[in-house]
Amino acid sequence: MSVVTRFPPSPTGFMHIGNARTALFNYLYARHTDGKFLLRIEDTDRARHSEEAVLVIMNSLHWMGLTYDNDAVSQFAQKDRHTGVAKELLAKGAAYECYCTAEELEEMRESAKKEGRQSWYDRRWRDAPADAPKPDGVQPVIRIKAPIDGETTVQDEVQGEVTVKNEQIDDFIILRSDGTPTYMLAVVVDDHDMGVTHVIRGDDHLNNTFRQNVIYDALGWEKPVYAHMPLILGPDGAKLSKRHGAQSVEDLKEMGYLPEAVNNYLMRLGWSHGDDEIFSMDQAIAWFDIKDVNKSAAKFDFAKLDAVNTHYMAEADNSRLLNLLEDFAQVKMKDIHRARLEKAMDELKGRAATLKALAEDARIYLQDAPFEIDEKAQKHLDEDGKQTVAALTDILGGLDDFSAGNIEQACRDYAKTHKDGKLGKVMMPLRAALTGTDKSPSLFHAMEIIGKEETCKRLKVTFKAAQE
Ligand code: GLU
Repeated sequence: MSVVTRFPPSPTGFMHIGNARTALFNYLYARHTDGKFLLRIEDTDRARHSEEAVLVIMNSLHWMGLTYDNDAVSQFAQKDRHTGVAKELLAKGAAYECYCTAEELEEMRESAKKEGRQSWYDRRWRDAPADAPKPDGVQPVIRIKAPIDGETTVQDEVQGEVTVKNEQIDDFIILRSDGTPTYMLAVVVDDHDMGVTHVIRGDDHLNNTFRQNVIYDALGWEKPVYAHMPLILGPDGAKLSKRHGAQSVEDLKEMGYLPEAVNNYLMRLGWSHGDDEIFSMDQAIAWFDIKDVNKSAAKFDFAKLDAVNTHYMAEADNSRLLNLLEDFAQVKMKDIHRARLEKAMDELKGRAATLKALAEDARIYLQDAPFEIDEKAQKHLDEDGKQTVAALTDILGGLDDFSAGNIEQACRDYAKTHKDGKLGKVMMPLRAALTGTDKSPSLFHAMEIIGKEETCKRLKVTFKAAQE
């Protein structure tokens, strides 16, 4: 049997990190088994539907490099098929029309609540004779006949054997009174029609599995293998959401994480292969097995993601990083800036955890004087700082060999003779003048790269501006 997995997101406008991991695991399993990975857009909520939201999903999958097989399926486009199956179930007596009014349903809910019963619908139309009088003006829903006694067991690849008492499963609706199919019906019909063999999804859907199995049984269709993964939690143990810092793939992209780092980190979140922390997609495909998915919930840890991203940043090709940086900062670099950054990249990329941090560190190479000096940097340009800048302009301007080593020596000499050997007293005003901020990577190397002319120009411009 050839494996077919699927990723069926509802287009909500963002790709939740948990959903992204679900997509990853389905992708890995399909590729591991030489099977197929299908995409189905669960777009039946027409009131909230937008093509942009679908595009967000496509873009996120593309960014993560998760290519799907066949064309994406629109669930909404299959609605006639879903309705047909509901009618088929009705015709064969596996489902029935229910004419309960809103008030009757409310009463049933109330009394179930009072009696502490989970299942509340009293099945009053289940065995009603065909000629039973129907209330005026009520459009019926179609309900499935769920088993009344006994229990149902699901053999889940992650959760193990899970059993529920059938009395907990109501005769749930498969076709609403307006003729639209419910999620429960649509998902079963689509999974069947798409030939899905393995359903790998979040364990928030485990309860649905028992209902979906009622439909499979009624239709005599073979059920897929199920694997329900624990959810991804925030560091505080609550469901991962925006307040934890990021909740979607787009958030992570905007924060400056690389797709291979996000993939690697998400794969490790809930799945492991020995002690391996860093691995490629190809390795994950070779190693992945549903049986190795953890049963306990995983907590999202930004420090770990930073560490994984730092690793991939350091490994990334310099010209790719330059392009990514342009995309990230949404600027087209001038040739001169790009040339400087190319020289600096080896040093910069080893220390930045994200593209955002890299963009900040790269600022010294990407600006031309005059530029704004921020408030923190201004503090280092007091009278003493200004004097240092003026003195260093002359000293550095007089160097014949403008190499990092020579620049460092000149700065150290000045610190020794004028600042009691305190190098910081020299470097902070220099940093402020050269970058407009109070943070930057090693200045000696940066000065060598931007060159004597640009270095002295920045120092002079800043000195002049500070005088005014
Ligand atoms: N559309 C559902 C969701 O986004 C997925 C349903 C399923 O995996 O069966 O949660």
